[in-house]
Amino acid sequence: MEVVNAQRKFFHDQKTKPVELRLLRLKALYCGILKYEQQLTEALKQDLNKSAFDSYTTEIGYTLKEISHTIKYLERWCKPKKVCKAPIYFVGAKSYIINEPYGVTLIIAPWNYPFQLAIVPLIGALAAGNTAIVKPSELTPNVSKALSVMLEELFPAELVAVVEGGKEVSESLLRQKFDYIFFTGSTEVGKIVMESAAKNLVPVTLELGGKSPTIVHKDANLPLAARRIAWGKFLNAGQTCVAPDYVYVHSEVKKEFLVLLKEEIKKMYGVSPLQNKDYTRIIHKKHFDRLTSLLTGAKVVIGGESDEGNLLIEPTVLDQVTWCMPVMKEEIFGPILPTMEYDDIQVAISEIVSKPKPLALYLFTESKKIEDNILRNISFGGGCINDTLYHLTQPYLSFGGVGESGMGSYHGEYSFQTFSHQKSIVKQTTKFDISLRYRSSKEMLKIMRKLLK
Ligand code: NAD
Repeated sequence: MEVVNAQRKFFHDQKTKPVELRLLRLKALYCGILKYEQQLTEALKQDLNKSAFDSYTTEIGYTLKEISHTIKYLERWCKPKKVCKAPIYFVGAKSYIINEPYGVTLIIAPWNYPFQLAIVPLIGALAAGNTAIVKPSELTPNVSKALSVMLEELFPAELVAVVEGGKEVSESLLRQKFDYIFFTGSTEVGKIVMESAAKNLVPVTLELGGKSPTIVHKDANLPLAARRIAWGKFLNAGQTCVAPDYVYVHSEVKKEFLVLLKEEIKKMYGVSPLQNKDYTRIIHKKHFDRLTSLLTGAKVVIGGESDEGNLLIEPTVLDQVTWCMPVMKEEIFGPILPTMEYDDIQVAISEIVSKPKPLALYLFTESKKIEDNILRNISFGGGCINDTLYHLTQPYLSFGGVGESGMGSYHGEYSFQTFSHQKSIVKQTTKFDISLRYRSSKEMLKIMRKLLK
């Protein structure tokens, strides 16, 4: 593919590496986003019916913050890291780590936060001194177009190119030789990406999905739990990779929790969410049909109505859900929240750990003991105690999955590290030469045994 070759040449011509240039490009990106803010907001409205508030907070503003954070620290991150500690036989030598860019990178983005999930990895790629090809989702064509126009105006294609299109385009890109692939999307496609990358031994970051549990213990601050769960679940109509997929609530507080949840949903979306002009729609008919089919035979206690013509589904809560039901068999990725109850937290833990490792987990409790128990015994990408989604917005924390929810991480400095190869260097002294390693006598072996234990 021509653009890949052009980017490789650009990279080898050292046109991505100077830190001053990286900073200039990040500043250009920041200004470009401000310039295109209106078009991007409109595109997000057209593709997903996102409100101006949600578009700014979860996509545009979020991305601007990530750029300003990166600009603030980039020079510091780029400096070789001195490694001061070393064993005795390194006397006279210096050790350090250089972060070097990989080269030509590929960023494949999904549709649910179609702007943010394409641009935030790009920030990391540029900050680390790489070139990038961005493949936005075909399911959000207006955002894809706006991204393409904006990035084409800001950067030469040898540095950043947008390749629009669907599965076939993605597949043909994956046949090219990249130096790094950053993929955000489903676990199923993540496996395909990794298989393609393996053919050329290309390192990958996989930001995938899964069923993220939320546990509400009996000692939780219930009003806050209900508010924060309603917010985290129904934002973007549940089409958030780290949205609470289901709630495990202690049987003693379940009834009260459901009452509070209903109130919070009403406060956030009104009595008729389907009439709410700012309520995000479901991405396409197939996804809408899949979601509504999950309601068949389920006990709906809140919401449940849908509007097929406008692809809207009310914030919906299910009660008396079991693991055998279809809604518990796959990632929901929509505004349906199943609730299950427990008496013994160990039973909930056993159920969760018997499933694939989730991308996120949320726990509502006032007990440090319960908190420690959950954090020690359940593996998951990241999460919050007494909140939902918020860990993702902390720029000093890494974000990523584990096991089937992904591998690798990014955000802030972690993005810079993800898109950099950590090159370790020992700079040896020439003033003297400790001859231990050259001598293979019995005495030397004795000394070596002491040194190397
Ligand atoms: P998807 O895997 O269907 O598509 C993601 C991207 O891959 C798109 O650009 C698409 O064109 C491309 N693609 C699709 N099929 C392909 C194939 N066979 N070969 C190569 N490329 C292909 O995912 P989606 O439906 O866009 O997004 C929803 C999923 O993404 C959910 O599972 C969600 O949890 C996950 N997700 C994860 C994160 C995260 O940060 N971990 C963020 C958002 C979404």
